[in-house]
Amino acid sequence: MSSVGIVLDERFKRHVTGHGHPERPDRLDAIREGLEAVGLLQTCVLVEPVPLSEVKIQRVHSRDYLVRLEAACRQGYPYIDVPDSAIGPESYEIARLAAGGVVKATRLVASGELKRAFCAVRPPGHHAERDRSMGFCLFNNVALAAYELKDEFNIDRVLILDWDVHHCNGTQHTFEADPSVLVISLHGHPRYLYPGTGYEEEMGVERGRGYTMNIPFLPGADDEDYRRAFRERIIPAVQRFAPQFVLLSVGFDAHADDPLGNLALSDDIFAWMTQTMIELAEDHADGRIVSVLEGGYNLGVLKRCVAEHVRLLAQ
Ligand SMILES: [Zn+2]
Repeated sequence: MSSVGIVLDERFKRHVTGHGHPERPDRLDAIREGLEAVGLLQTCVLVEPVPLSEVKIQRVHSRDYLVRLEAACRQGYPYIDVPDSAIGPESYEIARLAAGGVVKATRLVASGELKRAFCAVRPPGHHAERDRSMGFCLFNNVALAAYELKDEFNIDRVLILDWDVHHCNGTQHTFEADPSVLVISLHGHPRYLYPGTGYEEEMGVERGRGYTMNIPFLPGADDEDYRRAFRERIIPAVQRFAPQFVLLSVGFDAHADDPLGNLALSDDIFAWMTQTMIELAEDHADGRIVSVLEGGYNLGVLKRCVAEHVRLLAQ
């Protein structure tokens, strides 16, 4: 059993965001090209996404938000809540499909049918809050996957590690009072970068205090800064928590060549972080990892770094 699943579906391109929007359908073409070029699309298991039920989406989001989003799409609004959160007529259904793809991959890994999975979904999810969209995110895909593990597989300790350059405000808020989900985020410092949250002092609330870890980086931070954060803080924290399952929110917008990020990472660190998380997952979680695409807006970076990320997951 070492099969690795990929969620990558042409229908995700039907979430249209309009001319000039960085979170655009051709991001998925770049990822497909990268995976094809190294033979991974041929050797991995293609997981066909199915829309997530509205009942399950309401584990994370309010019914009022679902109703508003569906109506906004049906009525042809160009965005919901804020102009960043662009929508098209099919976006509600495609967001359900993205969340459903991530949850299905998570179920397959949790049940042992797959060893690991990578989900190249859009729209992304980590900024989406209970009652509203934010950033380019509609439903919080990775948070929904964590709920699936908690509610259907009785998994008590889920790690969500988010290395997108932007702080995962939605994921943090979903689990900030929940000690069964450790949320660790590396991101550009909130003084300089969207969404303006993710200060180190944000450590969780109530019973969840200590189960949120934010590691912000000043503009220009590089691979060595990230390696040091892993060695000194992240690896010890993950070992203490001993997760039974690892969920990754992977953005590739902390790369030096990304048009939205302000950090200076190279291709190498994404491979190094992948390998590090594989080793941690092997130690604690039977190797189980589901990796979920968030941001990353340079097509060349996406093509190269996603292919290497998946190649390592599939080894
Ligand atoms: Zn991002």
